[in-house]
Amino acid sequence: MLGLMQDYPLLTHTILDHAALNHGEREQVTRSIEGPIRRTTLADIRTRALKVAKALEHEGVRLGDRIATMAWNTDRHVETWFGIMGTGAICHTLNPRLFADQIAYIVNHAEDDIMFVDLTFIPIVEALQDRIATVRKYIVLTDSDHMPATSLPNAVAYEDWIGAVDDDFEWKSFDENTAAALCYTSGTTGNPKGVLYSHRSNVLHGLMGNQPDVFGLTSEDVILAIVPMFHANAWALTYAAPMAGAKFVMPGAGMDGKSIYELLESEKVSHTAAVPTVWLGLLQYLEENDKGLPYLKKIVVGGAACPPMMIRKFELDYGVEMIHAWGMTEMSPIGTTGKLKHATMSLDREAQLKLKEKQGRSPYLVEMKIVDDEGNDLPRDGETFGHLMVRGPAVAKAYFKLDQEILTKDGWFDTSDIATIDPMGYMQITDRDKDVIKSGGEWISSIEIENEAMGCPGVAEAAVIGLPHPKWGERPLLIIIRDAGSDIDKDGVMAYLDGKIAKWWMPDEVVFVDEIPHTATGKIQKMELRKQFKDFKLGD
Ligand code: AMP
Repeated sequence: MLGLMQDYPLLTHTILDHAALNHGEREQVTRSIEGPIRRTTLADIRTRALKVAKALEHEGVRLGDRIATMAWNTDRHVETWFGIMGTGAICHTLNPRLFADQIAYIVNHAEDDIMFVDLTFIPIVEALQDRIATVRKYIVLTDSDHMPATSLPNAVAYEDWIGAVDDDFEWKSFDENTAAALCYTSGTTGNPKGVLYSHRSNVLHGLMGNQPDVFGLTSEDVILAIVPMFHANAWALTYAAPMAGAKFVMPGAGMDGKSIYELLESEKVSHTAAVPTVWLGLLQYLEENDKGLPYLKKIVVGGAACPPMMIRKFELDYGVEMIHAWGMTEMSPIGTTGKLKHATMSLDREAQLKLKEKQGRSPYLVEMKIVDDEGNDLPRDGETFGHLMVRGPAVAKAYFKLDQEILTKDGWFDTSDIATIDPMGYMQITDRDKDVIKSGGEWISSIEIENEAMGCPGVAEAAVIGLPHPKWGERPLLIIIRDAGSDIDKDGVMAYLDGKIAKWWMPDEVVFVDEIPHTATGKIQKMELRKQFKDFKLGD
């Protein structure tokens, strides 16, 4: 027997309708690309999103068409998102930090029809325009006063373009499983792969992201969304914030410590989210300028492992709750958050801080387990490493236009991460499966050694890779960038690590470099490092 409840499709524009009706006056703040701070409201954003939808319809855009955006987090970008999705077209966020070849590949693979582009990125797109022939029109996210001369075909200023229509548009109606958004993974190997979110998965993920142990936003909160909208839904915030009626603060192109600090202060930001490198920039600014963080309550940090010293600094020196999070594009992206739970309240502060280094527990709607190489379930004992598998309504089941099975027979997605899960449910990433160091039949976590090494005075950045070893199969090589002015050497680093990691995990060698290669999303390119050090010989 079926239940007798309404068929109410979960469509992303219902979020904006709800927000405008119930929190229409709530301010939304943008550091504009043109310079000044721009203030708008949730009601205005909805009105202008309706105009975007109407103007797109005039352009002949239809259900399922791919419309690209290459833009920072701004009010115009939010309007564009909801407007595209509200016509039944697919909002394809492009990561401007990718290499030109990757961007060209992605646009052609997606067959993008129209592109919205920020002023900052016009040179990137102009250089590529001959290679991305599917794009027939460019809408530059600015007004006529700031519209530059450009060679892009059919380029028009956004404000002129939406100014030509009114907001008399009814959102399109369609099945909740209709594709809403497309985001390509920036894998370190092979071509990027498209993750195609649905309206249903995005709405559910927005609700999931707003559970109290994740972002937990309310209408009183002010969230600075530093994590870019082109990184998998800005970690759910583009949906979770209007759902809650929170004040949404968007940093535009200002990602440096000073610009971030100014917004945290001027907008009295209570919550924020970004990758660790952004927080390093902020910490440096705070320390150099002797500033505090009186309004900020919570930082969510993820996308790469958060160095333990960063958790301690924000919690102990600045009184801000640090929530370590893990996820991936294929998961929309939130997978876990490390908020302390009831059972951890009796732990002493040191034990709690140690626990916060883990990537955390899965919220409702993410299932997770670890398995061995043969796919057998492994215990949740906090010690055993295994392949981290996930499933849920906002986890990908296939890639866009790729005929490739990506789930196990019983529906689990292999994250390619290696992790432990403890009896309380806290997961800890120990490595990517390609990066784990297999020494004498046992596994060594490169991330754990990196985390410890990052705490060593004089170390600015650390990376660990496994190199072939005649006796043990593989052994760790520690690669370090020194802090400016530091003369820390191998003996100093080894003495620091001694006792902090297992004896047999101690690196066989330590080398010092000026640069460590990173991907466009800030992850260390281990493959590149392995290539760089392929002739480096470890002794026995
Ligand atoms: P992406 O799809 O580009 O967001 O990359 C997802 C991958 O980033 C994950 O599979 C992890 O390997 C890594 N990652 C994300 N968050 C964390 C974290 N908090 N700690 C360690 N690795 C992370």
